[in-house]
Amino acid sequence: MPGTSHLHSYALSLGSNRPLSADRPPARLLREVTDRLAEIGRTRCASPLFTTPPLGPSRRLFTNGALLLETALPPEELLRELQKIERIMGRRRFRRWGARTMDIDIILWSGGRWESPRLSIPHRAFRTRGFVLKPLLGIVPKWRDPRSGLTVRHLHGRLMKARTKDAARG
Ligand code: AMP
Repeated sequence: MPGTSHLHSYALSLGSNRPLSADRPPARLLREVTDRLAEIGRTRCASPLFTTPPLGPSRRLFTNGALLLETALPPEELLRELQKIERIMGRRRFRRWGARTMDIDIILWSGGRWESPRLSIPHRAFRTRGFVLKPLLGIVPKWRDPRSGLTVRHLHGRLMKARTKDAARG
């Protein structure tokens, strides 16, 4: 069927911990990003937004979400489009873990794995990040990580269990 046979599905993770201006706080920026993504594909289920504590030295809370994007763009082209959106949304790199207006990551892909100097799918760190797995759980719980073979639901459950054990150990 022309036009539909080359559609890719991507699970994307979105995060922001810095307003672009007083009337454009992170939650609003995430909604704006969703609108921009709709210009390069079809946005299907979007997760609720969650507020999560920052990783690293930045002290601003993050707003995180995830969505499923269907698009004809192959991985590297999608990455280029996402980076354009990040730039438009005013992302500045102050330092590696610094405040950022917008971070868009490709977490999983219907095509399985992709490995190049610029892009790794699945995203390298997603298995241990609650702020990625929790929003993903709401939209693609049954998608499998091609590396471990585990579903998103399983990876999330495993991470929560590990955290409970850590907390019990003190
Ligand atoms: P970060 O600052 O953590 O968002 O990393 C951005 C860099 O990670 C970009 O230069 C990308 O080329 C690279 N990258 C590698 N894998 C991915 C991925 N799955 N999604 C988004 N960026 C990725």
